[in-house]
Amino acid sequence: MSLRITCLCGKLAVDVQGSPVARANCHCASCRDFYGTSIWSATAWNADSVRMTEGTGHVFKHPHKQLTKTFCSDCGEVVFGTNRLGMRVVPNSMVARTTGGTLDAAFAPSMHLFYRHRVVDVQDHLPKYLDGWDGPTWEAS
Ligand SMILES: [Zn+2]
Ligand SMILES: [Zn+2]
Repeated sequence: MSLRITCLCGKLAVDVQGSPVARANCHCASCRDFYGTSIWSATAWNADSVRMTEGTGHVFKHPHKQLTKTFCSDCGEVVFGTNRLGMRVVPNSMVARTTGGTLDAAFAPSMHLFYRHRVVDVQDHLPKYLDGWDGPTWEAS
């Protein structure tokens, strides 16, 4: 797969190639604070699969966690982040805009992560891991 994604104002373009390593809705407090959203819905990629091809993004480093986000200095949109494993994380909101308002199945989340930390409940069929995907899942009671 190959997709060219631009920020809201069009100044930055990012090319995404290959397949994501993970597709998830993350409910952890780090993502919530860092990206300013109650649920961070995104895909994670090997770093060389996500490249800035137009413009120069600004990089903000988390003050005490191994997270960065690259954003447009004009419109403010985050075009990708990096997680503590060095993977690049691409927001689904931007992908959906690029693909006409719906999210392609190749990007659709396959799970919820850190669901025990949620501030918003979600009712869907996806597995809801209480923490990471190597641990137990949440069960409705
Ligand atoms: Zn922009
Ligand atoms: Zn998270």
